[in-house]
Amino acid sequence: MGAPEIIRQHLIDPEICIRCNTCEDTCPIDAITHDDRNYVVKADVCNGCGACLSPCPTGAIDNWRTMLKSEAYPIEAQLLWDELPGDTPLPATGETESQPDPAAPESAPEPLAQQVETSGHTSPKAPWSAAHPYVNLHGVRAPATATVAGNYRLTADDASSDVHHIVLDFGQHFFPVLEGQAIGIVPPGTDAAGKPHYIRMYSIASPRDGERPGYNNIALTVKRVEQDHEGRPVRGVASNFLCDLARGDEVRVVGPFGSTFLMPNHREASVMMICTGTGSAPMRAMTERMRRNLDHFAGQRMLFFGARNARELPYFGPLMKLPTSFLDIHFAFSRDPGQPRRYVQDAIRDAGARVAGLLNDPHGHIYICGLKGMEDGVLAAFGDACADAGLPWAELEARMKAEGRLHIETY
Ligand code: NAP
Repeated sequence: MGAPEIIRQHLIDPEICIRCNTCEDTCPIDAITHDDRNYVVKADVCNGCGACLSPCPTGAIDNWRTMLKSEAYPIEAQLLWDELPGDTPLPATGETESQPDPAAPESAPEPLAQQVETSGHTSPKAPWSAAHPYVNLHGVRAPATATVAGNYRLTADDASSDVHHIVLDFGQHFFPVLEGQAIGIVPPGTDAAGKPHYIRMYSIASPRDGERPGYNNIALTVKRVEQDHEGRPVRGVASNFLCDLARGDEVRVVGPFGSTFLMPNHREASVMMICTGTGSAPMRAMTERMRRNLDHFAGQRMLFFGARNARELPYFGPLMKLPTSFLDIHFAFSRDPGQPRRYVQDAIRDAGARVAGLLNDPHGHIYICGLKGMEDGVLAAFGDACADAGLPWAELEARMKAEGRLHIETY
C-alpha cells in the first residue's frame, strides 16, 4: 500500500479577513469562493501558486495546514468557521516516531510532514530598517469612523479623469499608519442583491505624522471610476462615494493594512519610486516623509511617474516645485498631443545607467505601484538597464526580493 497523500492545505483566517474579494479576483484558477460569512479555498483546486498572497491587504490569506489529503477541510466546513482550526499532528509513519530506536538506521523514514513539498513562492519582505507597522486594528465588525476634513480635485477641470485628494481626520481615535500602508473604506448601503458592499482599499497618500504635521489625519488619492478596463460605463461604488464627500461627512474605515510595502528608515537608504496614475499615493507619502526629515535621509531619490498628460497627473504642481537635488523626477506621458506615447518603462530605459546603479546599491529600495500592466514592462526595463551595465538582472532581482528591496503593488 502506498504512503497516504499529504497536502499543504491553504486556508483563510475568518477572524482577520475583511471580505474585500481581492483573493477571489486574483486567483488564476478559481480556487477561492465565498458566501455571506466567509471566504474559503477549495483544497482540490488550489495549487499553492501564491498569486493571491501579496494582494491580500490583511494577511488573512496566508495560512497553511499540513494535512492528509483525505482529511482536508471541505469548503462546507470552512464556510462555518469563526476562527481557524489549530495544527493537527500528522500520524507517524512507523513505530520509530513514538518509540525512538537508538539503533535506527539513518535512512529511517522521515515524518510525513517533512515529505510535503513547499509551493516555492517567496513572501514579500519589508526593508530591514522599516518602522514596525500596526495592522488590522479595525476589522469589518468594528470599523473606525473618520470625518472628512477636505476634498479637493487634483486633475485639471478639463481633464478626462476626476482624481481627488481626500483628507480624513480620526479625531481622538488611535489609527497609526506608515507610508505605503493602505486603509479599507466601507461604502454605505447595499448592492443590488441587498448585501453590504465590499470594502475598497486605498493607499495612504500622507506621511505617518499626518497630512498636516501633528494632526491625526490621513490623505487618500481617489480616481472617480466611471468606466471599467474595457471602457464600458460602470459607476465605482466607493470611488464615487469618496469623491462626492463633503467636509464634515463621516466615513467608516478599516485597517490599517500592509506590512511590507514600507519605506526604509536608515540614513544611507536610496529610493526609486515608479508609479502610474493614482499609484502615486504611496509615493507622495514617502516623498513627503523624506522632505519633512531631510537631515535624516542622505541617499538618492528617483521618481518615474506615468500619466496620460500633465493635466491628468495627480500632484503635478507640487511635484514641479521640488528641487531636482531633492527628487530626480522623470515623467512619462502617454497621450500628450503631438508627442509620441511614452510609458514609465521608456523613461527608465532612458535613465538606465542611474537606474542600474540604484538597483545594484545594497541600500537601494524600489517601489512600483499602479496599473498591473506596467509591472512586466518595468521589470523588463530593469533587465535592459542591468544588461547595459553588465549586471545579472535575474540574480539581482532574486537578491533584492530576499533583502526586502523590491516592492510591487499593482492592480
Ligand atoms: P491611468 O490614468 O489609467 O494610467 C496611467 C498611465 O499609465 C497612463 O499614461 C497609461 O497609458 C499608462 N499605462 C497603461 N498601461 C501601461 C503599461 N502596460 N505600462 C506602463 N504604463 C501604462 O491610471 P489610473 O486609472 O490612475 O490607475 C492607476 C492604478 O493604480 C489603478 O490600477 C489603481 O487601482 C492603482 N492604485 C491606486 C491606488 C490608490 O490609492 N488610489 C493605490 C495603489 C494602486 P495609456 O494612455 O495607454 O492609458
